[in-house]
Amino acid sequence: MNALISVSDKTGIVEFARALHALGVKLISTGGTAKLLADQGLPVTEVAELTAFPEMLDGRVKTLHPKVHGGLLARRDLPEHMAALRRHNIATIDLLVVNLYPFEATVAKPGCTLEDAIENIDIGGPAMVRSGAKNWKDVGVVTDASQYPLVLSQLKAGGALTDETKFALAVAAFNRISNYDAAISDHLSAIGPDGARSLFPAQANGRFVKLQDLRYGENPHQQAAFYRDLQPAPGSLVTARQLQGKELSYNNIADADAAWECVKSFSEPACVIVKHANPCGVAVAADPLQAYGKAFQTDPTSAFGGIIAFNRTLDADAAKEVAKQFVEVLMAPDFTPEALEVFKGKANVRVLQIALPPGGATDWDNGRNAMDVKRVGSGLLMQTADNRALALADLRVVSKVQPTPQQLQDMLFAWKVAKYVKSNAIVFCKDGMTMGVGAGQMSRLDSARIAGIKAQHAGLSLAGTVVASDAFFPFRDGLDVVVDAGATGVIQPGGSMRDPEVIAAADERGVAMVFTGVRHFRH
Ligand code: 5GP
Repeated sequence: MNALISVSDKTGIVEFARALHALGVKLISTGGTAKLLADQGLPVTEVAELTAFPEMLDGRVKTLHPKVHGGLLARRDLPEHMAALRRHNIATIDLLVVNLYPFEATVAKPGCTLEDAIENIDIGGPAMVRSGAKNWKDVGVVTDASQYPLVLSQLKAGGALTDETKFALAVAAFNRISNYDAAISDHLSAIGPDGARSLFPAQANGRFVKLQDLRYGENPHQQAAFYRDLQPAPGSLVTARQLQGKELSYNNIADADAAWECVKSFSEPACVIVKHANPCGVAVAADPLQAYGKAFQTDPTSAFGGIIAFNRTLDADAAKEVAKQFVEVLMAPDFTPEALEVFKGKANVRVLQIALPPGGATDWDNGRNAMDVKRVGSGLLMQTADNRALALADLRVVSKVQPTPQQLQDMLFAWKVAKYVKSNAIVFCKDGMTMGVGAGQMSRLDSARIAGIKAQHAGLSLAGTVVASDAFFPFRDGLDVVVDAGATGVIQPGGSMRDPEVIAAADERGVAMVFTGVRHFRH
């Protein structure tokens, strides 16, 4: 029996090799491993001797040779494979003991350079492991020191490994190189060619790359970190550049995402103010200054310490207006130098620059996360993103009263906003501005009442507004509440058992109502 031993982590290897030798196993080894074993008095053949080819390129090429891979891959049960080995004077390798260059440990060290990382990408080791594991019936592949005792005990007992053990070793081997490659892919995905990277090493966890550890989670006793997709969608929050301000917190990031996703769904200049993941003011206008003014008016109390997003370059006029109040996070596709100057004196304000997705702010399907994920108990809920766009042609007028063109425009605006408000969502709007937002209530009726109360507190009249409801009205009572508050138009999905009752109520009250046929629950 021939064993090829090539290990970076040499823990326990001398004892293991000594025991193999005692069992009559012939030892073949790469440079460093061979030297160690020979120093301990063990007879060992160097791979360079076996291949009649020197290890070269600083060890980049050691075992990449037909004498090695032929010996690993030949099927012992196929006469033509064995004849080929004899023809080329290749001996079988029956036991492969390999552990890889320490890539993970290297990149976990502070100050690891790109060059260090690259040099610690093992090439020949994983290649041999794949060859041996593919040919698992004929080769025992040992990739971890914890496997040495089991292998030895079986060899001592029966002179060979059982099929069960060889298969389990092969599976462990493929797991190991899969994790190894994931670690390489994750690490390199998080850095540029200059090797600059975040302070914290990437985690080998498949699809995501760790951007940073966070000070804490939603609450101070929770630990948290921020990960991004391996391939972030253009225009998504993770592509942001922080131009100034304190480190982003867990809640900042969650709120910033909500604000950014909402603001980039408008083609007109828009401003979105978010608090606790809900928009508390949204408006479209001729420019950022006016959009901000309108959005702020919706709910000045909640806007304090808000997360504010624009979908146009922020100019000095708008910046000065924003700077009059306490802002947590400010986002825009770009800032004029004068606008940035305004915030220089406010070092705590986190300013994020995020490029809009190609295709601009109107393209609903562009740049959105492909998948929504929610953790439940010991499982994951996954769904495609809620990115159904709605056009005028999709609306169905169900009331006797026809909505005016201005109402239709406001309805579409309100509908877009409602999509970003936690359910049950009720959103009053007028002239491209939110006038009252009712969010996150367990009953639609309460959301409707709250939206009305909030408008009253903000000193806004709801007369002549339109209302968007993210899901249908199950009874007419919710409709009565919004009409009592002053709404003259309603946009909602429809689809309730009691649609006829609700439509009759709209007609009785003389308001326009349109159905979208689409629902936007958000939890
Ligand atoms: P040694 O300390 O014996 O010189 O080297 C052992 C390490 O070399 C093991 O981690 C093994 O995976 C790795 N190795 C074996 N063959 C090759 C090769 O051809 N190229 C590279 N880059 N690494 C190899």
